[in-house]
Amino acid sequence: LGSRLFQPENTVIELAHSTIGGADFTVMAGPCSVESADHIMAMAKVAKEGGATILRGGAYKPRTSPYSFQGMGEAGLKALRKAADAYQMDVVTEVMDETHVDLVAQYTDIFQIGARNMQNFSLLKAVGKTNVPVALKRGLAATVDDLLNAAEYIAANGNQQIMLLERGIRTFDNHYTRNTFDLNAVPVLQKLTHYPVLIDPSHATGEWDLVTPMARAGVATGASGLQVEIHDHPEKAFSDGAQALKPATYLEMCHQVWAVDAVV
Ligand code: PEP
Ligand code: MN
Repeated sequence: LGSRLFQPENTVIELAHSTIGGADFTVMAGPCSVESADHIMAMAKVAKEGGATILRGGAYKPRTSPYSFQGMGEAGLKALRKAADAYQMDVVTEVMDETHVDLVAQYTDIFQIGARNMQNFSLLKAVGKTNVPVALKRGLAATVDDLLNAAEYIAANGNQQIMLLERGIRTFDNHYTRNTFDLNAVPVLQKLTHYPVLIDPSHATGEWDLVTPMARAGVATGASGLQVEIHDHPEKAFSDGAQALKPATYLEMCHQVWAVDAVV
């Protein structure tokens, strides 16, 4: 269903405040985790200022350690929705468990399926049975075909509103970067599938000072949009502080990204 042979035209996903896969580049920005109602409200203001139309923030966090912050849960979803509405933005947030699909759907405009859940087939089937658009992130060690097959699980259950996110993969050298940003995947996926392809330079690099150059490079591949993590006090962030852009850096990144987008 996702193949270009099956559908030659690009899939375009229309939300209240954003279009994904259309002529314009789409920015999703926000903190890794929703940390409090006040914090997500402040971050929404910054996100919007840079030109983001979609507010991100995790209320259910897939943490490597069970002792790390696990997310605010439903209170986080409520705060995220409220902040997005205050700035006329759409919401993307991760759904980690098939039993949460109905709950998360009450608050979000896009389900994010995280890298660790890319092959959680029962979760993929569950979001496939909804009509909520899905942002499917590439797994930590997933091939392009693995990613396309995961998308197929969603589509085969009836939901064709899918976007794919390249967020870096594990390779033999991840000493200076959290992951290896596989920018090859963008044009490869665009050749193979009609779904919009987006980039996530935050998780791909894991280091804030690498995010802007890789965002520029990712936009230059012709990706349909990007997702980026921001925080006003990264050293105090509940998760992923090392890769978070401070507001001024984020605004400068956006400025550069729009400039690159204008020439590709
Ligand atoms: C996230 O978006 O904060 C996240 C956990 O991303 P990934 O699933 O790509 O690691
Ligand atoms: Mn994160």
